[in-house]
Amino acid sequence: MDLLVFRNFRNRSFPLAMGFFISLTISVFVYFSGGTNTVYTNFMYIPLAFISSIYGWRWGLAHAFFSGIMVGPLMPLNVPDQIMQSPLNWMFRVLIYMLISLTVGFFADIAHRREERLSYLVTHDSLTGLRNYEALRQSTIHTDDPVSMISLDIVDYEEYLGFFGYDFFQKIINAFSSELINAMHIFPNASIFRYYGLRYAIMIEHDDQEASTEKILSSLGQINDKIIQVEDVPIYLHFRVGIARLNAGERPMDGMRKSMIALRLAAHNDQKLMRFSDQLEQSYASTVLIPNTFRESLANNAIQSDYQTIHDSVTSKPIGAELLARWIQEDGTRIPPDVFVSVLEKTELIHDLTVFMVDRAIFMLKQPTFSKYFFSVNFSATDFNEKSILTLVKHVRQSGVDSSRIHIEITERVLLSVNKIQAHLTFLHKHGFPIVIDDFGTGYSSYRYVADLPIDVIKIDRSLVLKANTDKGFGLVKSIVDFCRDFGIKTIAEGVENKEYADICEKLGIDAQQGYFYSKPEFYNPG
Ligand code: C2E
Ligand code: CA
Ligand code: CA
Repeated sequence: MDLLVFRNFRNRSFPLAMGFFISLTISVFVYFSGGTNTVYTNFMYIPLAFISSIYGWRWGLAHAFFSGIMVGPLMPLNVPDQIMQSPLNWMFRVLIYMLISLTVGFFADIAHRREERLSYLVTHDSLTGLRNYEALRQSTIHTDDPVSMISLDIVDYEEYLGFFGYDFFQKIINAFSSELINAMHIFPNASIFRYYGLRYAIMIEHDDQEASTEKILSSLGQINDKIIQVEDVPIYLHFRVGIARLNAGERPMDGMRKSMIALRLAAHNDQKLMRFSDQLEQSYASTVLIPNTFRESLANNAIQSDYQTIHDSVTSKPIGAELLARWIQEDGTRIPPDVFVSVLEKTELIHDLTVFMVDRAIFMLKQPTFSKYFFSVNFSATDFNEKSILTLVKHVRQSGVDSSRIHIEITERVLLSVNKIQAHLTFLHKHGFPIVIDDFGTGYSSYRYVADLPIDVIKIDRSLVLKANTDKGFGLVKSIVDFCRDFGIKTIAEGVENKEYADICEKLGIDAQQGYFYSKPEFYNPG
């Protein structure tokens, strides 16, 4: 910041005019105090040093020449006696002034260049030459016209780093930055900043017509989902964009915060582009509220677990149930788990929920009504750490319930970090907990997991079950069921809503079924 003050000083003409004015004043003073034979001529060194140290040697020389002339040929040596200086005298003085200014100015120029280089380094990214986060932080808005801010984020860019290593990742950054610079080249009102990794901000000034932003967004769209060549390796890059319009008086960083909110929600809803609005901010604020109020809600019994029964396909009798979390608001409304689970999963708090659900499972298993049931609990990726798993196993053992009656449901999303959780799953399986793959067929279904992991049950996702009334869909589900049977894995159909599907599932040989046809999730009240 200090450096910038000095540079800005240099760019202003007021001190320069001041320097000339001071020299003029000193020469008038020299005249009225008796001429150049007095000591007062030495005052002139002050504006000389002042101007050359600020403006460098060029202006220093010009100013020194001017000052020398001011106390030169027209300035008497002795005013009362009207004795003039010899030409050699004043010429030497001009020369000395110029030499002093040249020396001071020369060193000032070196210092100035160093300062500019430093300021450049602080505000620019050495890899791509683009401006960086610091530049964005320091930047101000020079227009009264509307300004918009875009946040652009390559999806899962950390994975490129992990996969290709640091050096190659730098090349990817370079290649993508060039693409971005090219795409923005035709928009002089768009400035690009890279703040880290493959994360960028684009500030659009004079955004007075909607068309301007729309054109920029469409140019960005053209480089999205593209394969770029990095040293002959084709790399697929996919990014998301959050955009926000700044209100009057807001700084670029305010725009950044808003566009980041839009970007985060774009990621949350798996969309390529999200525009910021006040409504969006409110929903974001409630998202932030979730982790802040969760523990309190848990302590106040505002978190509940409903249960939904699971039925044998042949006998239709209930054999177990899945526990599903509910967050009851003060006004009685129930926040569905889809809203808060994904937020809690980003924090350690999800473990509190899992512990609570396991406790509920233990409680339910001890009820005579459920003496023949198993209870399924949903686990998240963050639950799989040594401490949590050990505590859980110990806890269940102490409760006296049979661990084979607590099913552990994990989605294929959890299995993405298969290496991290494999040992934990094996451990749980060895301690008798059946392992269930939830939502099978939605994501990255891979039979590899099934072969490598101790899987006991597969829950076939509702989206697949829904297709089973067509020949193709029936065949697809049949192949899953056959595969599971070969591996001794039980199957459960999810989302069975009517008799037609219940019959199809039975015909397919699916072992058990869950869905509104049998029961809706409800709260168990022992009465
Ligand atoms: P899920 O594990 O796949 O749970 C089944 C979801 O399908 C439940 O939604 C259930 O109410 C709904 N469902 C049941 N039968 C039918 C049907 O016939 N038709 C349709 N359309 N839907 C049906 P819910 O309760 O909203 O839960 C959503 C998701 O939230 C769950 O999906 C699960 O992934 C997650 N979740 C719920 N409780 C917990 C929890 O305690 N911990 C964790 N980590 N996740 C949880
Ligand atoms: Ca589940
Ligand atoms: Ca499911």
